[in-house]
Amino acid sequence: RKPRVAVVFGGRSSEHAISCVSAGSVLAAIDRERYDVVPIGITRDGRWVLESGDPARLALGAGALPSVDGDRAAVTLAHGVSGTDLVVTDAARPPETLGEVDVVFPVLHGPWGEDGTLQGMLEMSGVRYVGAGVLASAVSMDKAFMKVVLADAGLPLMPSLTVTTRSWAADPDAVRRRADELGYPLFVKPARGGSSIGISKVHDASELDGALATAFEHDPKVLVEVAAEGAREVECGVLQALDGVPETSAPAELRVTGNHEFYDFEAKYVPEEATSVDIPAVLPDGVEEQMRALSVRAFEAVGCEGLARVDFFVLPDGSLVVNELNTMPGFTPLSMYPQMWAASGLDYPALVDRLIALALQRDTGLR
Ligand code: ATP
Ligand code: MG
Ligand code: MG
Ligand code: MG
Repeated sequence: RKPRVAVVFGGRSSEHAISCVSAGSVLAAIDRERYDVVPIGITRDGRWVLESGDPARLALGAGALPSVDGDRAAVTLAHGVSGTDLVVTDAARPPETLGEVDVVFPVLHGPWGEDGTLQGMLEMSGVRYVGAGVLASAVSMDKAFMKVVLADAGLPLMPSLTVTTRSWAADPDAVRRRADELGYPLFVKPARGGSSIGISKVHDASELDGALATAFEHDPKVLVEVAAEGAREVECGVLQALDGVPETSAPAELRVTGNHEFYDFEAKYVPEEATSVDIPAVLPDGVEEQMRALSVRAFEAVGCEGLARVDFFVLPDGSLVVNELNTMPGFTPLSMYPQMWAASGLDYPALVDRLIALALQRDTGLR
């Protein structure tokens, strides 16, 4: 029989809707001649449900964001039947096995999906999956730890400090002093976030408390980071070849337009707000080569597998700084990662195919 691919999407993070849109595109791109597809949604409150996987329902509509609503049969995920079976049971009826799932494509962004938690569950179950493993997912999801690992590998980063709800409550003046020392403007970001949700630019000390409060709504751990002022914003895709060698895509540059001060949620996903994008980015001599090399170094530093999108700033002096690395970058039609690969000669279906092929050759450690 054909290999069976479970596409898992939605989920408990603030990027639920974006995950649905990403999954809609992935579901539409998987070659049904070669793979059986099982769409599995996770509701915002964490229930696993069988989905229709109808790409039209998951598309980014005018002003509407899709979601997994859980109005279909509730399912729970179990394991251990034969070691490699992913058993989805209908909670309302007697257990119904969907049969062996050969590979899971976690099209999930943010915590509970892009952060190693799902990956750990699949490792325990002996189920192969697309993308980064437990450690790389966890490290890359947490901007504070990601920066420790990237700094250790000698990668250039913006200086930052980590603030927790506890350290903020204990001594806000100490936090304010340390922010002053970093120097304004600053960016305040939830440590474990994505799609720019909860991020603010802080122009001066008067805006710090409000920005921290906003970020704390999403995460009790927050990064306060020096703003890359006057920088250009560029990204690069990394994708492993079937022999494991990480390859890089053509770089992209994004320019936010109009009333957006940075690449915020609306600039990313509201089509009318469309950020202008150059793929490939037109960069000074040598910068692209450097970017590709730094992308591979970042990928290897966190021990990534499969894919990653590495986000950079080109500072006014021409030097590159790594902003972050995403182990499950956006896969919507507007998303940079698939667009960068398309511009590099690998179209969307071929990209999805490569990722599934890579996952299928993963060693589960079970014999
Ligand atoms: P993603 O959707 O890429 O996962 P994210 O939520 O993880 O996003 P970042 O990529 O860290 O967040 O930041 C989002 C955007 O905020 C950046 O693309 C950039 O426009 C702006 N930004 C973040 N940090 C800085 C900084 N230090 N200096 C300048 N701009 C910044
Ligand atoms: Mg990110
Ligand atoms: Mg992200
Ligand atoms: Mg980013």
